[in-house]
Amino acid sequence: MGIRLLLIILALWALYIIVRRYLSRSIDSGNRQENNTTDNMVQCKVCNTYLPESEALIKEGDFFCSEAHLIAGNDES
Ligand SMILES: [Zn+2]
Repeated sequence: MGIRLLLIILALWALYIIVRRYLSRSIDSGNRQENNTTDNMVQCKVCNTYLPESEALIKEGDFFCSEAHLIAGNDES
């Protein structure tokens, strides 16, 4: 009797973990899709290199690949 009860508890616990994983996975994939749509490729104003918007430096609507180019871009104008 004791072993059967233990097996039932284990089965319910496993089911609980599977359901939790499934739910967290669906939430994660939703977040990833949002990140993909917002992560546009942008072009550095100075060297014209394409880089993800999340990695780019933005100043006054212009994109820069690095701090050095951000300063160089400001000196131009
Ligand atoms: Zn650059």
